Amino acid sequence: MTRSPKDASGARRAGAAGGESPAAAQPGPRDRVDRLHGVGPARAAALGRAGVRCIADLACLNPRQLEEVGPLVELARLGDYLGARVFVRGEVLSARFVRSGRGRSMLRVRLSDESGAADAVFFNQPWMRDALPVGEVVDLYGSAVDIKGPALASPRRAAPGEDGLVPGALLPIYPNVEGIGLGVLRDLVQRAHQIARDSFVEALSDAARADLELPSLPEALDALHAPRSRASFERARRRLALEPVLALQARLQERLAGRIKGRALQVELDDDEHRALIARLPFEPTGGQRRIMDELRRDLARRAPMRRLLQGDVGSGKTSLGIYACSAVAARAAQAAFMAPTELLAEQHFAGQWPLLAREGLRAELLTGSQPAAQRRATLARLASGEIDVLFGTHALFSRDVRFASLALAVVDEQHRFGVSQRRELFEKGRDVHVLLMTATPIPRTLALTLYGDLEVSSLRERPPGRLPLRTHRVKMADVPRLLRFLDRRLAQGERVFWVAPRIEAGAGGRGAIDAHAWLSCSPLARHGIELVHGRLPSLERTARLDRFRRGDVGLLVGTTVLEVGVDVPQATAMVIEGAERFGLAQLHQLRGRVGRGTRGGTCFLFGADSAAERLELLERTEDGFALAEEDLAQRGMGDLAGLRQAGDNAEGLRSPDLDLELILRARDLMAQDAELRAHYMVRPVG
Ligand code: ADP
Ligand code: MG
Repeated sequence: MTRSPKDASGARRAGAAGGESPAAAQPGPRDRVDRLHGVGPARAAALGRAGVRCIADLACLNPRQLEEVGPLVELARLGDYLGARVFVRGEVLSARFVRSGRGRSMLRVRLSDESGAADAVFFNQPWMRDALPVGEVVDLYGSAVDIKGPALASPRRAAPGEDGLVPGALLPIYPNVEGIGLGVLRDLVQRAHQIARDSFVEALSDAARADLELPSLPEALDALHAPRSRASFERARRRLALEPVLALQARLQERLAGRIKGRALQVELDDDEHRALIARLPFEPTGGQRRIMDELRRDLARRAPMRRLLQGDVGSGKTSLGIYACSAVAARAAQAAFMAPTELLAEQHFAGQWPLLAREGLRAELLTGSQPAAQRRATLARLASGEIDVLFGTHALFSRDVRFASLALAVVDEQHRFGVSQRRELFEKGRDVHVLLMTATPIPRTLALTLYGDLEVSSLRERPPGRLPLRTHRVKMADVPRLLRFLDRRLAQGERVFWVAPRIEAGAGGRGAIDAHAWLSCSPLARHGIELVHGRLPSLERTARLDRFRRGDVGLLVGTTVLEVGVDVPQATAMVIEGAERFGLAQLHQLRGRVGRGTRGGTCFLFGADSAAERLELLERTEDGFALAEEDLAQRGMGDLAGLRQAGDNAEGLRSPDLDLELILRARDLMAQDAELRAHYMVRPVG
C-alpha cells in the first residue's frame, strides 16, 4: 500500500548471506512480520488478513483515531469527570460481588486516596478481584460513570507508564485486527516503525506538500505512531491516506497518456466503418451513446488494453455500447466475450443480441454451466477454432477449459455483481485484452476516482427518448386492498407486474418469495396467472417460467433479486417490493428500473419498515441514479455506500474518511504535472 522502502533487499541479503542464523539478524522493512519477536504463525495470519504482510506494512498501519489519555483525578472529584476517561490512583479497601440487573455479576471495588473514596465496577470480570488485592495501591484507567455514585466502569489496571498509558498522553487507536489486542498491536507497530522508519522516502516536493498542508511521509508516520498533537495527527492521517490515491493516480495518468505499453489488439476503425456499425443499431443512438462509442473507438485503437468503466442508469442503453465494441473487434477477425453475472441475464443478452450480430454476418453463441456436455464441447471447439465471434456467458467464460482462438475484448455487464477476485482474475488473465466494465450502480465521482482510479470512467446520464416517468410510492399494509385493485386493472390491460421479496423463504425479517407467491395465488390477481422465480430453481426451469412471463402467458412474476439484473420486459409497468428496508438504496433503484421500460411508464410500490423511511423517501423523490448515489454518499458516508459493499478489499484502504474530493483532485493534478513522481509511484502498483 505504501512506497516500497529503498533498503528493502539489503536486509534480506544479510539474512541469506550464511554465517549468522536468520533469527539473529536484525529484520528489515521488507521482511515478513513473523520476523518480529512475538509474532508467530497465528498473529502473522491475523495480520495477513488485515492486509499486513511485511514489517513496512505494519509501520504503515493507519490509526483510526487518537485517544487522549485522561488526567489523574482525585477520587473525591470523580463526579466532575462523568463521561470522560480518567486515571485514578488508590488503595484497594474492599472488593465484593453484587447482583446487577439481568442476572449479571458485578464486582465493586472500593478505592481510597487522600481526597476520599470511590468505586471501580467490573461486569462479568470476576478475575479482577484477584488482580486488585486488598491493601495494594493501584493505578486504574477507565470511564467515569454514575452507578449509585461516581465510579470507574471496567477500568484497565495500568502499571505506571506502561504502553504509553500516562496521564495526558496521546495514544493511537489502530484498526481492529481480529486476534490481536490493541496493546500488543501497539507494541508491534512501534517496533516495526523503528525498523522501517528510515526507509520511507517522501516523493512529493516541498512545494506540493506546503500547498496541501501535509507533512512528509516519515514525519507523518512519527506523528501517527507517537502522536504529539491532535492537529499533527490529523494531518498525518491525511498524508498516509493519500498514498494509495497517489499510486492509483500515477497508473491512471500513465494509461491516459498511452505510456502503459500493452499488446492488445489495435482496432482502428475508419469513419465509414464506425458509421456503419452505428447504422446497424436498431435505433438512433442518443448523444451520450454516440459520445461513448467515440470513446470506445479511441480506446480500442490503442495498444494499451482498454480499461473502461461505463456507468449508466438502468435502461440508459448500455448493452448496445458493449455490442458496438464486440462488433468492432469482430470486424478485425478477433473474438469478444460478453459476460453477465447470472445465467439468466447471459441468456437474455444472447437472445436479444444474436439476431443483430447475425445480420452483420457475425456468429454469436452462448456458453452456460447448465448446457448438456455435448453441446458445451461443440461450442468450445468452435470457440477454439475461431468460428465464434462473440461468446455470451457468465464469469465461467474465464474458467480454464474455455479457450479462445483470439480473445481481444471482454465486456462485463453489471460488473458490481462480480466479486473483486473475479474482476482481478479477469484483469490478470486478460492482460492484453481490452476490458469494458458496465454498471447500473453509478458510483459518485469521488469514489470512481478512488476505487477505480486506474480505470477511465464514462457516464451515460441521459435516457433514450420516449421514456415516461417512473413513479415510486411507499405503501402500508392498510393500502393492500387498494394496491391489489390497481394491479388487477393493469393486468387486465395486458400489462405485467413484478412482485419482489428480499429472500426465497421466510426468515426473521419477514416473509419470502415462496410465501408471497402462495398468498398472491389466493388473491384476486391469481386469475392473471402467477409465476415464481428464484435462484434455487434449475436454470432451465427458471428460463421457462420467465419466458411464460415475457410472452404474457402469466401476468405476475414473483421473485427474489434474481430480477434485479437486466430482466427486460417492456410490458412490465408495475413492481411491488416487500421488505424494502432490507435492500440497499442502489439495489432498490436497480430493481425498480425493471418497470416502465416500454412506452407506458411505470409505478413502483415499496413496503418498508419505518426505520428506513428516510431512504425510501429519497427514492420517491428522485429517479436519477447518479443523484441517488451522491445523496447516499452524503447521508451515509463514503464507507457505507449501497452497491459498494462488494467493492471489497481493494476498496478498503481507499475508503478513508480523511480523503475528500479536493485532495484526490489535487493528487491527480500533481501526478499529471510530474513525471518523476509518476515514476516513483509506478514502481509498486496498488491493489
Ligand atoms: P441498460 O443495459 O443500460 O439497462 P439496455 O441497453 O438494456 O439498458 O437498454 C434498455 C432498452 O432501451 C432496450 O430495450 C434498448 O433496446 C432500448 N434503447 C437503448 N438505446 C436506445 C435509443 N438510443 N433509442 C431507443 N431505444 C433505445
Ligand atoms: Mg443492462
